[in-house]
Amino acid sequence: LILEEDEIINFVSSAQEQAALSQAEVQKQSIQEVRRSLPVFPYREDLLLAIQQHQILVIEGETGSGKTTQIPQFLMESGYNDGGMKIGCTQPRRVAAMSVAARVAQEVGVKLGNEVGYSIRFEDCTSERTVLKYMTDGIGLCLKVVVVIIDEAHERTLHTDILFGLIKDIARFRPDLKVLVASATLDTERFSCFFDDAPVFRIPGRRFPVDIFYTKAPEADYLEACVVSVLQIHVTQPPGDCLVFLTGQEEIETCCELLQERCRRLGSKISELLVLPIYANLPSDMQAKIFSPTPPGSRKVVVATNIAETSLTIDGIIYVIDPGFCKQKSYNARTGMESLIVTPCSRASANQRAGRAGRVAAGKCFRLYTAWAFKHEMEESTVPEIQRTNLGNVVLLLKSLGINDLIHFDFMDPPPHETLVLALEQLMAELPVDPMLSKMILASEQYKCSEEVLTIAAMLSVNNSIFYRPKDKVVHADNARQNFVVPGGDHMVLLNVYTQWLESGYSTQWCYENFIQFRSMKRARDVREQLEGLMDRIEVEVCSSGGDIVPIRKAVTAGYFYHTARLSKGGYKTVKHQQTVYVHPNSSLFEEQPRWLIYHELVFTTKEFMRQVIEIDSSWLLEVAPHYYKNKELEDSSSKKMPRKQGKAKEELG
Ligand code: ADP
Ligand code: MG
Repeated sequence: LILEEDEIINFVSSAQEQAALSQAEVQKQSIQEVRRSLPVFPYREDLLLAIQQHQILVIEGETGSGKTTQIPQFLMESGYNDGGMKIGCTQPRRVAAMSVAARVAQEVGVKLGNEVGYSIRFEDCTSERTVLKYMTDGIGLCLKVVVVIIDEAHERTLHTDILFGLIKDIARFRPDLKVLVASATLDTERFSCFFDDAPVFRIPGRRFPVDIFYTKAPEADYLEACVVSVLQIHVTQPPGDCLVFLTGQEEIETCCELLQERCRRLGSKISELLVLPIYANLPSDMQAKIFSPTPPGSRKVVVATNIAETSLTIDGIIYVIDPGFCKQKSYNARTGMESLIVTPCSRASANQRAGRAGRVAAGKCFRLYTAWAFKHEMEESTVPEIQRTNLGNVVLLLKSLGINDLIHFDFMDPPPHETLVLALEQLMAELPVDPMLSKMILASEQYKCSEEVLTIAAMLSVNNSIFYRPKDKVVHADNARQNFVVPGGDHMVLLNVYTQWLESGYSTQWCYENFIQFRSMKRARDVREQLEGLMDRIEVEVCSSGGDIVPIRKAVTAGYFYHTARLSKGGYKTVKHQQTVYVHPNSSLFEEQPRWLIYHELVFTTKEFMRQVIEIDSSWLLEVAPHYYKNKELEDSSSKKMPRKQGKAKEELG
């Protein structure tokens, strides 16, 4: 028996050896096989012909049919990039741009960043040699681009919508430019209509039937319901991987943890369950894991945000669990508050999610809501982002492109008039960043602290992904974070983190030891370099305050004076709108609760929280924004010196 066992082990390992030897070859072969098996493959010639015949073409195909990875390769193979021309493919999501570029580089057989690369905001992985570029910011398209693919058009993100208007215009005076609008099987008629009845090329789907199950009654706790459903599938259903849709990192981590823990408890009673998360801030090596094949005898469960709805396709999924929620940005033009709220997803989304179960074989989709809710409580489709966002950056962007008549810009679905006007009013600087951030940077010259403020600006722009807090090391992570706390507020903490990292020689190890995300820091460094370049261009002198924190905080105030909050019973009130807000529990000032604060942003989760706050002196507001604040507004209601005015001030603000 022992011998036999040895033999088995031997057999396996020699097979592995052989596999390793010819791995490169096998890999290449199978990649070509996979390419040929994709639904788009038989349409290669027809598609290339259609592209040749039309300037603008809408391409519709089921998710996973090969639009994103194959079409750019077809174009390269047929020489569209001859003469140094480039192919650009825009992606709404950063993770998708990186992951798809990596995949295509592998298929083409080149190193990522050479012929095939990606460029996402503040991170450029391309070179002189790059022919095919996946990018999140298609607006920076260069003149050398010969084909632009607006991918995932159905997602209707802000950038996509802006791009539609711009490209439509550019295409008119660049007849040589080819425009491909690629979309899942949603809304394609609207795209065609917007682009003056451009033809639609349909890649017939290859979808197996998906059985849909609903719960009999609504689920009180959808996270728990997900966990139970996964385990139920795992023990009762035939082999096949499982995909769970949740709304964000925290939920995903919790779900993965619960699953792992229950599996551990069940031990050898069940076969192996591989639990893999995927969300935007996950380190890229972890992201890649979801694509590795499931070992025989085990089952993979991928717990994802709606990034797996259409942007990423994971092969082998047979079961989908859909709690029916997603996180959505919404914007209140009056208060200027942008919030991220968990809301029911649309029916269109739910159907896309279900479709993910039927790519390789007949599948099953378990909806953790009732059939009635699907019919009556969900919207037909998702509202385009442009109608629920802060348009400040967009306006700035369009302005910088020389588009002045924004009210008549050719939007596919125009944003609300009020939002657009407000965004125009906020416009005040010429840096390609948020107007308030620009103002802060410009003010840093006056206060002689631009060294520090540039760092703060860079750190703020990679917001909320600096500190790493793995669930199993919460105490260590929180201690590490506490060690960075310095007086003044969160901006000063961010500055401190960056300075220490710089002193460590931009060390990865340092990040690891201090629970800091290296990737975010690297991005902050890139942003900082870019901003420094801009300062140079607009001839702003870069200098340091030499340890004095008052000028730094004044510069922040100069930019963000609009975001002032004053301590009031149990919380804070914004000075302009008297809206009740709270210091975010992650803030270094959470316990201190100073009288006056400037916040970087407001987020709505369970309450309206101010994220990234800095302590200020109210008199600074008069110094930096005399046109905006009147003395009376800033009288400190708790100040003992002005007992009589207290009531009056309250009345006026009431
Ligand atoms: P579409 O854009 O039409 O949705 P894609 O081109 O994204 O389709 O996907 C085609 C195939 O490429 C799918 O089978 C998918 O699994 C595979 N694929 C895409 N990205 C990766 C990756 N990073 N690793 C492995 N396979 C991938
Ligand atoms: Mg795609």
